Amino acid sequence: MSEKREFYRVGELVNDEGWYICVPCGYRKLYKRGEEFVECISCLEAHKDVALSDITDEGSWEKIGE
Ligand SMILES: [Zn+2]
Repeated sequence: MSEKREFYRVGELVNDEGWYICVPCGYRKLYKRGEEFVECISCLEAHKDVALSDITDEGSWEKIGE
């Protein structure tokens, strides 16, 4: 039984195609192999008045499924 948790930062490349969840807000997105992790659009909407650099600092994606 594996309890492995995988986290990826904005700007990293996707090695493993599947569904990922934005850790700060819970937004889900399907990433394909070779794509780049991007800022979560849901977080961007919630932080319209905040500098982008502040968002990417906290942005990370966790794999949740295939
Ligand atoms: Zn988010």
